[in-house]
Amino acid sequence: MDFQLSEEQKMLKQSVHDFADQRLAPMIAEWEDNGASLDHTLLSRYADMGLLGITLPEEYGGTGLTAFDAVLAIEELARVSPIAAMPVFETSVGPVRVVELFGTEEQKQRFIPPACTGEKLMAVAMTEPEAGSALTDLSTRAILKGDHYIVNGQKRFISGGGQSEYYMVYVRLGETKGARGIGGIVIEKDSPGFAFGKQETFMGLHGMPSCDLIFEDCLVPKENLIVPEGGFAFLMQAFDVERCGNATMSLGIAWGALEAAKKYAQERKAFGKLICEFQGVQFLLADMAMKVEAARLLIYRAAVNAGLGIPSIYESSVAKCFANEIGKEVTDMALQVFGGYGYSKEYPVERMLRDSRGWPVAGGTVQIQRVNIAGAMLGRRFNQR
Ligand SMILES: Cc1cc2nc3c(=O)[nH]c(=O)nc-3n(C[C@H](O)[C@H](O)[C@H](O)COP(=O)(O)OP(=O)(O)OC[C@H]3O[C@@H](n4cnc5c(N)ncnc54)[C@H](O)[C@@H]3O)c2cc1C
Repeated sequence: MDFQLSEEQKMLKQSVHDFADQRLAPMIAEWEDNGASLDHTLLSRYADMGLLGITLPEEYGGTGLTAFDAVLAIEELARVSPIAAMPVFETSVGPVRVVELFGTEEQKQRFIPPACTGEKLMAVAMTEPEAGSALTDLSTRAILKGDHYIVNGQKRFISGGGQSEYYMVYVRLGETKGARGIGGIVIEKDSPGFAFGKQETFMGLHGMPSCDLIFEDCLVPKENLIVPEGGFAFLMQAFDVERCGNATMSLGIAWGALEAAKKYAQERKAFGKLICEFQGVQFLLADMAMKVEAARLLIYRAAVNAGLGIPSIYESSVAKCFANEIGKEVTDMALQVFGGYGYSKEYPVERMLRDSRGWPVAGGTVQIQRVNIAGAMLGRRFNQR
């Protein structure tokens, strides 16, 4: 077991760190106050730095690195803002990997390169109004007629909704009920019969587009089917990778909050002393550091063990659940270190606390992660219905 980063990984971290501090941090107010999201100029910069499609093969325009390298980059960006980390998340551990893992050569040539240049991002659309945790109850249906699938249904809370050009949509392809009837199809933004609902107003993650996708007799070329009926297990395998990305969002936010609290505790005075000299504040900082370090090690383990492939459901669920929980705790403790100023929008920790709250729900709730962990640990699947 080696806890040292390679020289290349140290360089990757440093360059992303500097990019986040110098170029992205000044944009947070714009994202936060105006709900603006990343524009194409900025996405080209990500592409130039090799940050889009970190884990995707170089022959399709990716960077050809590992899930661990993607985690290192996402962590550095989410430290400043999870909005800054979203494009890396989507292209390196998100739905584009489904195309890479399960698509045909033609599909890979068509969908991966535009994601790696930032021209056409891909969002993942699983959740429906009546199917969240109970994902296998989803009812969006795709029926093959001639050369096209006719898609009908509605998706909810889709991150990137309205902005992304491509959507990896989980659909029911036949009459088979439950998981066996589900597959995955890419639907393009301007497909006939495809509309967007109004943008969500979330408590945090301002600047991350999110909305319903509405399909009414939406016409999709049959060549866009990536995972046929019966391939739900493949879609879930790819999701083991996404889970590590979600966990890293929580880790990055918690780390950012810890760094802010450390700095503030060494500047702010009370009773004529710096507050870092009080044991009560030191204990807060020490507890925050322990939680961040533990989450980091769990995520790194899952990602390193995945190599170029897919992490285990056990390791990725343990990492996600733990990181999601400590994300809430650490940002809350950071707010406490800041006192009244922590509760003010003038300082970053109230935003971090709000941003941390989305991840324990997104990508499978922390309750569902515990179900995964218990199932993997005991070697059995339990019916939770
Ligand atoms: C910030 C954010 C981003 C998101 N991005 C996307 C996206 O890009 N694409 C997408 O498809 N979806 C996305 N989602 C949706 C997300 O995946 C769902 O909200 C989540 O899966 C939970 O589904 P639900 O909201 O319907 O809650 P429900 O499934 O209704 O759950 C409600 C509560 O019941 C609990 N519960 C339900 N069933 C069980 C059970 N069997 N055992 C124990 N507890 C249970 C849940 O843990 C939760 O606490 C996002 C959500 C958020 C908040």
